[in-house]
Amino acid sequence: MDKQTILRQYFGYDSFREGQEFLIDSILEGRDVLGIMPTGAGKSMCYQIPALLMNERWGGITLVISPLISLMKDQVEGLNQAGVHAAYLNSSLTQGQYRKALSLASQGRYPIIYVAPERLMTGEFLDFAVHAPIAMVAVDEAHCVSQWGQDFRPSYLKITEFIDRLDTRPVVAAFTATATKEVREDIIDLLMLRTPALITTGFDRANLYFGVMTSKDRYQTIKNYLECHPGESGIIYCLTRKTVEEICSRLKGEGFPVTRYHAGLGDEERKQNQEDFIYDRSPLMVATNAFGMGIDKSNVRFVLHCGMPKNLESYYQEAGRAGRDGQPAECILLYSGQDVRTNQFFIENNQDNQELDEITRRMIAERDRERLRRITFYCATNDCLRDYILRYFGEYRENYCGNCSNCLSQFETKDVTQTAQSLIGCVESCRERYGVNVILDTVHGANTEKIRGYRMNENPFYGKQAAVPVHLLRQVMNYLLMHEYLTLTNDEYSIVKLAGKAADVLSGKEKVEMKLPKTQPHPAKIAGRESSGGSGDRASRRRGTAAGVDLTADQQALFEKLRALRMEIARAEKVPPYLIFSDRTLTHMCLLRPETREEMLKVSGVGEYKYEKYGERFLACVREEGSGSY
Ligand code: ADP
Ligand code: ZN
Repeated sequence: MDKQTILRQYFGYDSFREGQEFLIDSILEGRDVLGIMPTGAGKSMCYQIPALLMNERWGGITLVISPLISLMKDQVEGLNQAGVHAAYLNSSLTQGQYRKALSLASQGRYPIIYVAPERLMTGEFLDFAVHAPIAMVAVDEAHCVSQWGQDFRPSYLKITEFIDRLDTRPVVAAFTATATKEVREDIIDLLMLRTPALITTGFDRANLYFGVMTSKDRYQTIKNYLECHPGESGIIYCLTRKTVEEICSRLKGEGFPVTRYHAGLGDEERKQNQEDFIYDRSPLMVATNAFGMGIDKSNVRFVLHCGMPKNLESYYQEAGRAGRDGQPAECILLYSGQDVRTNQFFIENNQDNQELDEITRRMIAERDRERLRRITFYCATNDCLRDYILRYFGEYRENYCGNCSNCLSQFETKDVTQTAQSLIGCVESCRERYGVNVILDTVHGANTEKIRGYRMNENPFYGKQAAVPVHLLRQVMNYLLMHEYLTLTNDEYSIVKLAGKAADVLSGKEKVEMKLPKTQPHPAKIAGRESSGGSGDRASRRRGTAAGVDLTADQQALFEKLRALRMEIARAEKVPPYLIFSDRTLTHMCLLRPETREEMLKVSGVGEYKYEKYGERFLACVREEGSGSY
């Protein structure tokens, strides 16, 4: 067999995606590789295909090191579904099961074995490994080896020690979705990759729509959204456990198929709820950021953030759980000014780094404040959101994507020089002593105790912009901070200071112009399509579609039937529905309406093995629907 045949027969796909072929070929040539690709790009295929080829050619076995039990389980089930023998070795097995798996592994039963890093240096495992023809060690989530990232795992440092124990050094293939230079260098150094073939595919996830909006009543906004996306699976992230509880119970009360997840629940319940979500028994998950590591569910159609996360790294990771099947999916952040304060509180009261010394702790807090600021600007910007994210990760492109709430809204350029002069003037005249809110309140002319206490009611700029609504003042303030007219101190007080371009604005030498929404920025109600603005248009485009592709009413009806059949099979076989066929595959079936085996095998995601298992039933379902509609 060759790689193309394997892709077709086992996985049911016709062509490789960006980077896959290069990495597969390099591995087959015996070269180490490092693949840096965003979530959903198809990293697994890059090691699974050469693993199968090396196994077929000379019985070589591939070990896949993976940090999380749930991730391993999912991958192994997926492979088994595709007709590949694979196993995992981790602490979820009983001693008996573990021995059994190892013994089958020694007999060469599994071309691919997933193993937890903690197992590598144990006597039993070593005993197996030194006697087995290990062809490759594939390191998944390779950034876990680096202390720069957020997911450092000391046990990843044992990987090289393990490799040293083997008689023949296997190919080492590392994969991650984390792009920063420090992490990349750490991976190469600490895993001792030998002149690896390196590929970094872009970080863009073109199928994801990004949106930011504020909303007076977040619960209502979420509810509207869910009502417009019936049957779809999605995650609603909240900042606190309390919000999770609140939103989950209200949604449940209104009959939505929802479950919850946060660190305050018992192990048993967390496990159960996670499974309910993965198996689509409760396709809606309300959770804190404790949820998600290792969630490989491919048919998540939206990720709503009820509140701004602490930084863009977390946001992109969490939002990125949408649309892993490559089908259109939506990532919407519901933002309010309070979120900044909540996150500031988390930073100032961070208990995670108790064992660190004072200086390091202070450095971490500073870094966190800076990251928080950058995501606050994400929520405030009127420029392309995708562009903002990609720039943050060091990728530069045009400031237009056509698939985010800003690109789809109408803006006009306005001269805000006078407002800017008042804000900057106020900062200067109070001798750079106060934070954003005091400045805004002063310029707006708020008559509060705090303002009087600071005697800002005597400031020459007091009330100067009383006619400008506060939210607009805030937008201008954010613009000035983003574009280096003003800056904030990087301590817990966040004092507004003058920056490089301030003087020219005050002297009238420089005009300040910014993009503002054309219709008054009363933030679009996500699902209340009555509102103006791009997100409404966009949402209605997606309305009534199953997996984000526009289906006709007939096709949509077929999709629902296929989805029900998938659920029925999933229940009977006790596997997650998306492992049987992805949403994308079902959608493709609706478009092609296959009537024969041959036609069914043309559907993306239907390989021969899966055809043998499920093909006839899905064919029957398509045929039945066809005859019914005429
Ligand atoms: P990653 O590990 O990079 O996050 P996965 O390996 O889980 O991504 O792949 C994401 C999805 O893309 C999976 O559903 C996978 O089957 C699919 N996929 C991978 N390669 C291809 C391909 N060449 N053509 C179509 N789909 C693919
Ligand atoms: Zn855009």
